[in-house]
Amino acid sequence: MTDTITLSIVVPCYNEEGNLAPLVNAIREAVEPLKLGYEIIIVDDFSTDKSWEILQTLGARDPSICARRLEKNCGQSAALWAGIQAARGQFIATLDADLQNDPKDLPKFLESLKHCDCVSGSRIKSRAQGDSLIRRLSSKIANSVRNKITRENVSDSACSYRVFKRECAGHLKFFKGMHRFLPTLFKIEGYRVAEIPVSHHARFTGKSHYGIWNRLFASSWDLFAVRWMQKRMIRYQVRERINFPGDNQ
Ligand code: UDP
Ligand code: MG
Repeated sequence: MTDTITLSIVVPCYNEEGNLAPLVNAIREAVEPLKLGYEIIIVDDFSTDKSWEILQTLGARDPSICARRLEKNCGQSAALWAGIQAARGQFIATLDADLQNDPKDLPKFLESLKHCDCVSGSRIKSRAQGDSLIRRLSSKIANSVRNKITRENVSDSACSYRVFKRECAGHLKFFKGMHRFLPTLFKIEGYRVAEIPVSHHARFTGKSHYGIWNRLFASSWDLFAVRWMQKRMIRYQVRERINFPGDNQ
């Protein structure tokens, strides 16, 4: 591994004690052959199981594992944001702690990132391997409503598996539930977003933190905020300048 950090892998974690060691191993196996500097940032969202103790042990053995523990349970978006802010790499990958996202897809993401600023995973083809029919149906409905309201064409906007250039995160508006809208939020900032198909598995251990209601209801509220941002964000380009050398505002 080199000293410069090229890739920061950010993982939000809430009560994932059985998943952390296998997750870290799977990430190492996927990233080591790429011969690039990397860090694994795991944000413990105030777990009540042994996740934090396990992270302490893993971190003591391997300096590429950086962990933070939030002072109370703040939710997936907050944990994700805390990890993204701590990231030092040129590229940031985000994925879940439960191994539903497969680290083996990371090289494919990095390859696609050569042509855009953010690559977002799409589980459309693989979802049946990891999620129940009800989850798949509710996600299908949610995606089509989101696309309709935001005039978008994102097949799987809530897939947490993404890789993007670090500068993309600089101006993002972070709010609870924002992790479901990242492709659109990046586009609002003028970044180029592509989707690629990813593998999807059943949770390795433990259970989902969401039911249909806390997923769909909160998300519909957020949807209108995203639409509002698309319409109301201020965008301007300076046409000419007098006496502002080097100014690109
Ligand atoms: N998560 C978190 N804080 C929470 C709830 C979830 O950090 O309050 C993390 C969780 O540990 C996992 C990711 O967010 O890494 C996605 O959660 P989950 O797998 O339960 O969501 P699902 O895949 O069922 O949509
Ligand atoms: Mg999951």
